[in-house]
Amino acid sequence: MSGITLQTVRKEFETGEEHIVAVDDVDLEIRDGEFLVLVGPSGCGKTTTLRCIAGLEDVTDGTIAFGDDDVTDLRARERDVAMVFQNYALYPHMNVRENIGMGLKLSSSMTSAEIDAKVEDVAELLGIEPLLAKKPKELSGGQQQRVALGRAIVRDPEAFLMDEPLSNLDAKLRAQMRTELQTLQHDLDVTTVYVTHDQTEAMAMGDRIAIMDGGELQQVGTAEEVYRTPVNEFVADFIGSPSINTFDATVEGATLHGPGGFEYTLDDPSPVEGHDTVRVGIRPEDMTLVDDGVAIETTVLEPMGNENFLYATMGEEELTLRVVPSARPSPGDTVDFAFDEDSLYLFDALTSEALKTKT
Ligand code: ADP
Ligand code: MG
Repeated sequence: MSGITLQTVRKEFETGEEHIVAVDDVDLEIRDGEFLVLVGPSGCGKTTTLRCIAGLEDVTDGTIAFGDDDVTDLRARERDVAMVFQNYALYPHMNVRENIGMGLKLSSSMTSAEIDAKVEDVAELLGIEPLLAKKPKELSGGQQQRVALGRAIVRDPEAFLMDEPLSNLDAKLRAQMRTELQTLQHDLDVTTVYVTHDQTEAMAMGDRIAIMDGGELQQVGTAEEVYRTPVNEFVADFIGSPSINTFDATVEGATLHGPGGFEYTLDDPSPVEGHDTVRVGIRPEDMTLVDDGVAIETTVLEPMGNENFLYATMGEEELTLRVVPSARPSPGDTVDFAFDEDSLYLFDALTSEALKTKT
């Protein structure tokens, strides 16, 4: 077992008329035994990065190492990683036992009795022992996904590479499999790179989260780090649900002037020194309704049971607030909100880099 190190990994595609930089000089160190989640919007380069690690794509530039071994020039079958995809592509004519044992049959010198024993161990681990004689079409989606996992686990690989493996499952099963996968990964202690576009899944599952945008790695950190101290507005916006509220404000000394009647004087103006305008960020969960604060106009109230989502306008800006269930303003009502300076985010208006995050 080992960690995985990407050094300025670059992958470009030529499609005749188009030149695409799918992975743009990514530096990333995945620790031995770590569950790292690679997350970002569709098309940001997650799958390509994973395929480069697997050896399914040649990198245009940069190096990939497993532990101390440079594997950049090794082909996929020489890298000893196991991949699990969204479309888990089980062999339809084979039963579960044969599907799980297939890789061992092809790549190891084990006897069929040894393979059988190993397959049964893995099936027991995944709770699919009773299904060993069944064909894929006789299984539910969740069971099929377990078989696909079994096929990966049975080989004792150096690393698991998973590309949106749960996205074909319904919400409830997905939540259950998330937990199971995490437990399994921690028990097996195998370095894992898990790709998803779903930030909630990323936050829930990852030991650390690597956030990509436009082929570039934006930030790597624990869920708490990327939530509290995003490096830029993209990360702040991508992490957290509902998304952070952001708007432009002009700076006058220590005072921020925003849309509608927004006006706030900073106790500590040092982050905005030298800036004429900044981007202000306030998370929906950091806003409370008060008698005398920033006035906004209610558009919609969405009751969520234990809290309410309040959608409102502040001048031209649309805001989302998470408020206590007892707060029930009607559409058109003016309400006031307040927030703590500790929870305020500020970003450079040009570069979008963070000037201030949560303290
Ligand atoms: P993600 O998995 O984050 O959705 P991908 O890694 O699949 O993103 O794609 C990143 C970019 O590379 C996209 O612009 C995509 O169209 C492009 N791309 C991926 N694979 C190929 C390919 N084989 N040929 C050309 N372009 C590709
Ligand atoms: Mg993808």
